[in-house]
Amino acid sequence: MHLGTFVPYMALLTDLHSRIHRSLRISIVDKCDLRCTYCMPEDQQFLKRDALMTREEIRTLAKLFVEKYGINKIRLTGGEPLMRPDVVDIVRDMAALPVKLGLTTNAMRLHLFLDDLIGSGLKSLNISLDTFDAERFRTLSRREGHDRVLANIEQAIDRGLHVKLNMVVMRGVNDDELLRFVELTRERNVHVRFIEFMPFAGNKWGRDRVYTYAEMLGRISSMYTIEKLDDDPHSTARSYRVVERIGGDSMSWKGTFAVISTVTEPFCGSCDRLRLTAEGKMRNCLFARQETDLLSAMRKGEDVSPMIEANVLAKHKMLGGLPKFNPDKQEEVLDGLSGRPMVAIGG
Ligand code: SAM
Ligand code: SF4
Repeated sequence: MHLGTFVPYMALLTDLHSRIHRSLRISIVDKCDLRCTYCMPEDQQFLKRDALMTREEIRTLAKLFVEKYGINKIRLTGGEPLMRPDVVDIVRDMAALPVKLGLTTNAMRLHLFLDDLIGSGLKSLNISLDTFDAERFRTLSRREGHDRVLANIEQAIDRGLHVKLNMVVMRGVNDDELLRFVELTRERNVHVRFIEFMPFAGNKWGRDRVYTYAEMLGRISSMYTIEKLDDDPHSTARSYRVVERIGGDSMSWKGTFAVISTVTEPFCGSCDRLRLTAEGKMRNCLFARQETDLLSAMRKGEDVSPMIEANVLAKHKMLGGLPKFNPDKQEEVLDGLSGRPMVAIGG
């Protein structure tokens, strides 16, 4: 079935702010083999296995979202999705649906799955990389593995996957590496995405640690002539390409970069995303404080469709009902957060 923009027989998931939801993030496991400081507390408790959606339950829910509600984009995430032994089967199930499919990973275990993931129909990977410095990686992720991550990223690019690299830029932590990441786009066909540091439970967020969109562009523009690229209307990222290094050689840069500015310039007005946590709870926003337990209802044999529709209708206009992240009202931001760290939501 071809899904164009006009979908006559589907009950599209439209909220009270006229946003149509066509994109679903599915967290398939909440566990992770890293402990990134910005994502989770060191002592995070993980779900027991029987609390997780099974492969079959993921497929059933995904099919419902796609076939009944016109979802045409699915991204598998976690926790770390490659911690799940049946990840390749889940990718295969999703690839059989008429959706644009992606997976977000820290690449620690990518060498174990790369062939099978490609074989099961995956074409696009988002990989997290916050630093080129091994010691810094150890501090940030509280684990070893930097070499392996770098090697696996190379492999993924060489194998022809469409790779986006996600870097969470934090002031005083890794902002000094911004231009090195931009340089990566000179020779490699890679899309680097600079993400503003977002507040979540237990991640020691502070407004002063957010290296802002404006600061990033200012720093990059001081060294490079850049051009703005067109973005998908629902994109969370604003994309650019380097035209040339100021005073340097003129050449064609193979990759691109983008900024995701959730903190200083949120993109809620065009948001088309919904989320399922690893235990089958539906969330209509990263910052939502309410969620809908689809999995428990499904396990009792209930029809979850009305629950899905109600969840979408309850979506707040902005940031899950939080006020814009005001630097002068940091306590207000922290008080408003849901209890979930990012690792338990699924980014
Ligand atoms: N484990 C996988 C990974 O690291 O790519 C997938 C899950 S991770 C939660 C998804 C994305 O969320 C990663 O790119 C990560 O950098 C990002 N992320 C986590 N915490 C964040 C925060 N506080 N602010 C901005 N991005 C964050
Ligand atoms: Fe794990 Fe990804 Fe969170 Fe890092 S960002 S702790 S790799 S889930």
